[in-house]
Amino acid sequence: MGAKGKLLLIGFGPGHEQHMTGRAREAIAESDSIIGYNTYVDLVKPLLTDQAIIRTGMTEEVSRAQEAVRQAEEGKTVAVISSGDAGVYGMAGLVYEVLIEKGWTEQEGVEVEIIPGISAINSCASLLGAPIMHDACTISLSDHLTPWELIKARLDAAGKADFVIALYNPKSGRRTRQIEEAQRILLQYRSAETPVGLVKSAYRERQHIVMTTLGEMLEHEIGMLTTVIIGNGSTFMYDGKMITPRGYQKKYTLGEAKQALRPHQRLKPEHEPWALHQGEEEVEPASSSLQELAEEAGPEPARGSLRELAEEALSLLHGEENVGKRDVEPASESLFRQETVFEFAISPGLANKKFSAAQMQLIGEVIGDKGEIEYTPDHQMKVTMKTGDAAQVTAELEREGLLLHPVGDVVTIKACDFCDGDKGESLPQLDEIFRSIGGEPVPKRLTIGFNGCGMACYGAPTNDIGIIYRKKAFDLFLGAKTTGRNAHVGQLVAEGMSKEQLVATVIKVVRDFQQRGMPNERFHKFFKRVQVVAGYQYRDVPEPIAVDNVCGD
Ligand code: SAH
Repeated sequence: MGAKGKLLLIGFGPGHEQHMTGRAREAIAESDSIIGYNTYVDLVKPLLTDQAIIRTGMTEEVSRAQEAVRQAEEGKTVAVISSGDAGVYGMAGLVYEVLIEKGWTEQEGVEVEIIPGISAINSCASLLGAPIMHDACTISLSDHLTPWELIKARLDAAGKADFVIALYNPKSGRRTRQIEEAQRILLQYRSAETPVGLVKSAYRERQHIVMTTLGEMLEHEIGMLTTVIIGNGSTFMYDGKMITPRGYQKKYTLGEAKQALRPHQRLKPEHEPWALHQGEEEVEPASSSLQELAEEAGPEPARGSLRELAEEALSLLHGEENVGKRDVEPASESLFRQETVFEFAISPGLANKKFSAAQMQLIGEVIGDKGEIEYTPDHQMKVTMKTGDAAQVTAELEREGLLLHPVGDVVTIKACDFCDGDKGESLPQLDEIFRSIGGEPVPKRLTIGFNGCGMACYGAPTNDIGIIYRKKAFDLFLGAKTTGRNAHVGQLVAEGMSKEQLVATVIKVVRDFQQRGMPNERFHKFFKRVQVVAGYQYRDVPEPIAVDNVCGD
């Protein structure tokens, strides 16, 4: 025993010795006395040797902390045990509060070591599948030390922000109303079908797991030893497992037989718009220092490799028996439907700019209050909505003659209205280009502007690829830069092309960009870097001419 005592704040994990860290065991062995709630002391009893045991009741946390500090000040090594992690609704904070009240400093006071443990959110999640793959939070429903109004506000915020939520201390014999109120608040933001996992006594003798829904969860037993994990808007059930996808379904992809992105595509960095390196860089950074900062931050490691690792692990297991089946109550069938965020653009046609009243009405009905509609500079309406059946949404809209387009890093075609068809001889070429490459994925969003006459009033040359139909032939522009201080139109690379030449050339340019473009590289940067695209030589854009400012400011 040293002159100065020591406080060991130990999180021993969910309960089973196997899930306790090596340092937690060691720390228990090092201690002279052990302080904890009765049940916890019993759980670690097999590890005790000659330690003095100080047991306290559930609500005596403050006196437990005071006693621990007192003994440490006497020079003892005192283990204060918490289940899970000592820093998550555990003893760590309380002990610090008692110490601070006594004027403790790290230099002069007793030594404090916090030993991390597996918190219930993690241990319970491991038994449910992978429910907390995305942003999650913990909320304790105990109003013993927190005002209920504040707990309600947090439930509301977490519900609104679509966090996966782990409810600790959900219910006790005396406290039964809170979980009902929590359910009511969350049902304002989430469907009654949202998957919910109830885990009682994870990794302890009486472990019990129930898979249910937000609507039905109160029909099952919930108590002080239960953690309630509530899925977000994307969480789904599969084979008795609760799974939250790593990302959201973002795109409607024409090129893939109208299928939404498959999971492995979602995992690619270019499909993860929330990744740091993917910030929609529509506007060039205002200053070079911003640009430098962005470059310094660098790209995130490729997400594709995560998928590869998972697949490799699965292939190693292949052929082996499915181990670790657990006693899980089955979930209802309806849980197998996954509701995700679905994003696409809508227009009345490529050249047609007029929506009919019936189309507008249908859009209102299908999207309703399930999503948002945004009007874009590309004469499209961009839709972001939640749905469990993307195929049905698209089929309904297409039935009324609407054209659906994918959004994101794909080939987007913007055409003029051909003055309502009077000058529409080149429409078949527009159509052919759209059918061959429209909506295909590219390293960075690429727009093709198509104008039906030399007036080019829809600004074809200001697109990555610009096409103007003039004197029964086509002019081709490449590499415009539409934003930033040094914005410029595309370079005129060919004049008087035949329709056959045009279609073949545009496809060639796009294929070249798909093959040689770097992830996230804009087409004008690509053209400058590779210098020759589809046989066309890049020409430097003239530097701006410096003009003496006659006004003198
Ligand atoms: N420090 C602990 C939390 C203490 S609060 C931790 O980090 O896990 C007590 C609550 O934790 C319980 O009401 C229950 O919701 C949750 N909990 C703790 N251990 C658990 C276990 N083994 N199984 C399920 N829930 C548990």
